[in-house]
Amino acid sequence: MPHGYNAKILHIDLSNSHFSIEEPGEDFYRQYMGGSALAMYYLLRDMPPAVEPLGPENILVLALSILTGAAISGQSRMTATAKSPLTGAIGDSQCGGYWPAELKFSGFDAIVIKGKADKPVYLWIHDGEYELREASHLWGKTTGEVEAVIKEELGDDKIEVLQVGPAGEKGVRFAGIINMSNRAAGRTGLGAVMGSKNLKAVAVRGTTRPTIADKAKLNQIAKWGVDNLSESDIAGLSKYGTADVVSANQSTGTLPTYNYNSGVFDKWEAIDGTTMYDTVLKGASEGKQYREGRDTCYACTVRCKRIVEISDGKYTVDPHYGGPEYETMATFGSYCGVDDLAAICKANQICNMYGVDTISCGATIAWAYEAFNQGKLTTEDTDGLDLTWGNADSMVILTEMIATREGFGDILAEGSERAAKMIGRGTEAFLITSKGQEAPAHMPQVKRSLAVIYATNPFGADHQSSEHDPSYEEDFELFAERLETMGFTEPQKPQSLSKEKLRFTLASQHMYSALDSLNLCQFVYGPAWQLYGPADIVEVVRAVTGWDDIDLDSLQRLGERRLNMMRAFNAREGFDRHHDKLPEKFFDKALKGGVSDGWKIDRDEFETALDTYFKLCHWDVETGIPTRAKLEELGLDWVADQLDL
Ligand code: SF4
Repeated sequence: MPHGYNAKILHIDLSNSHFSIEEPGEDFYRQYMGGSALAMYYLLRDMPPAVEPLGPENILVLALSILTGAAISGQSRMTATAKSPLTGAIGDSQCGGYWPAELKFSGFDAIVIKGKADKPVYLWIHDGEYELREASHLWGKTTGEVEAVIKEELGDDKIEVLQVGPAGEKGVRFAGIINMSNRAAGRTGLGAVMGSKNLKAVAVRGTTRPTIADKAKLNQIAKWGVDNLSESDIAGLSKYGTADVVSANQSTGTLPTYNYNSGVFDKWEAIDGTTMYDTVLKGASEGKQYREGRDTCYACTVRCKRIVEISDGKYTVDPHYGGPEYETMATFGSYCGVDDLAAICKANQICNMYGVDTISCGATIAWAYEAFNQGKLTTEDTDGLDLTWGNADSMVILTEMIATREGFGDILAEGSERAAKMIGRGTEAFLITSKGQEAPAHMPQVKRSLAVIYATNPFGADHQSSEHDPSYEEDFELFAERLETMGFTEPQKPQSLSKEKLRFTLASQHMYSALDSLNLCQFVYGPAWQLYGPADIVEVVRAVTGWDDIDLDSLQRLGERRLNMMRAFNAREGFDRHHDKLPEKFFDKALKGGVSDGWKIDRDEFETALDTYFKLCHWDVETGIPTRAKLEELGLDWVADQLDL
């Protein structure tokens, strides 16, 4: 009996309701371990190139890892992977909550879904059993409604529901997959893929915990985390949520403002995590207008999730849909010049109700705001909405119009890059996208290694794919012990794109890539400021699985394997170095105001950094495609064969 995992993968073809169970051996789990790497195995193995992302041939994988469901913080996460309808490249997104652990307890490690049901269905998995159930009565309903109906009709309040909202049904290209009505695998449009299959939801319930090889050791590591949280570098995250990052990014000039024209927002305090926290007290003393609470994922002591309730005023907010993360606060806030906290909380609620990625949604609205403020759009284009910077009411209305594909929202639901092509008039100049995906709220003009990551990342601009620069710059002393275990001893000057900085970038990218394959939360585990460091991650894997030969190098190789599989997938789809681009604005337009005033990216330095990065990856420098030698070294000969290398 394996420890940590079920050795069972559930395959479903929705076109004919056919189920099968695959039972891979230990070698498979050692090679791929779970999450993104495991999902990539099935996409590369079972899906031909060039399928239509919203067609039945696309395969959607929902994958757990060998660690999911173990009794320690930061392990209850799920990876969704498919070809992205937003980018046409690989799509990949993670979410936490209780659903991942519950699926593990129900007896499976992953679900591989292909085909399309001829009418709406949902999948019900419980203690090793599975069935498709009619979902026509759920179609068009919001996430909170669907969750309530499914729990009631199956007669168990402990059921966890993962689903697409109406936005996924309507093919919003950045629709997310939602669980608990407030946890989103938001990025790359995988909710639209699930909706295109007529699969409304996956409900799970299980009662069998995975066995743990060394329970005493795992308990000891878990207890250390509980005991040390308040003194750790994530104590602020625990208390204020990720929105605490607003003040940090404002002070370092990397809070995207007015669609990335500035790195500082003069009204930042209105949208900071501490303000959200303090508003509770203020709201309570003024008649309980606001209420904020904390929520968590299965077995996690950090409890970083916010719950916001606003019971009166212009924007009321239902606590069932959670509260805004930092990215949400920035994209609907400073990105659009909006300083209305209640409006941002409302936009967050709409996204979770309808199943929309808050990053792409907020950033796409910000693109429209800039086009409007530059005179390229008028109220005739926007159904009468005034998109003057800072207009909170229009931001909230547009969010709902996108989620429901109404009027001007129908164009924006295509994503900013397609919208710019449809509208023209020079609006392409305002795009903040890489491979068609809108950039998150960390600025490569300031954190220079993100220029390389945003450009080369297989699933488009992403902020959770590497450790950010300050950890190997001015903050190095704080994390020196952990970074030294990874071979990093020479802290770099700020804004450096030196070879040593890029070596750090790639090594940390491999670690984050491994975390997305182990499905570990990147706030809890990582190379620097997280609760647990690299040595602890190795210990957790050993304690859960009993694989005492696993070391840091094995995990780094896992991350490298996943990254190479994704680049190989993209190569099959026709992507190469020509697609590894940044928004033109990052090169052409210097930031205005604050500590990052005047900063932009030097084009030659960036191209040289790409050369260096590809050499460090052992990929072809001209094409950016993995070499046969690298793929063979990672045990991916079969992938090299597919690429005809
Ligand atoms: S740190 Fe936050 S997001 Fe991560 S597992 Fe814990 S509660 Fe979930």
